[in-house]
Amino acid sequence: MSDCLFCKIISGAIPSSKVYEDDQILAFRDIAPQAPTHILVIPKTHIPSVDGITAENSAVVAHIFAAIPAIAAAEGLTGGYRVVSNCGADAGQTVHHLHFHILGGKPLSLEMA
Ligand code: AMP
Ligand code: ZN
Repeated sequence: MSDCLFCKIISGAIPSSKVYEDDQILAFRDIAPQAPTHILVIPKTHIPSVDGITAENSAVVAHIFAAIPAIAAAEGLTGGYRVVSNCGADAGQTVHHLHFHILGGKPLSLEMA
């Protein structure tokens, strides 16, 4: 989608601090980190949110979750980490391209709601 921020990051039109990339997914540092380590993992295909995951496109989501432990290990998140995806207005989703936040590097608060 031409007006999607994360599609522009995938195309290289907007720069990002990449930590992992393959043919299906991209991981890069969040521009406004909420924890010492804050990485976003996105599919290279435009899926608007968790609500847009279907039986037809969910393989890339499995691929993301297979990559997350390796990304976390490469970041040294030996103490654990949190994976979050905000879906829709009530969750505070601001970028409407499916993404999974990896947060870690300190004990995290349990304030989720
Ligand atoms: P969400 O609020 O769940 O939709 O998350 C969107 C995330 O994208 C926020 O944590 C933002 O800080 C992050 N973000 C916005 N623009 C950029 C950018 N250009 N590069 C990296 N992260 C970004
Ligand atoms: Zn997009």
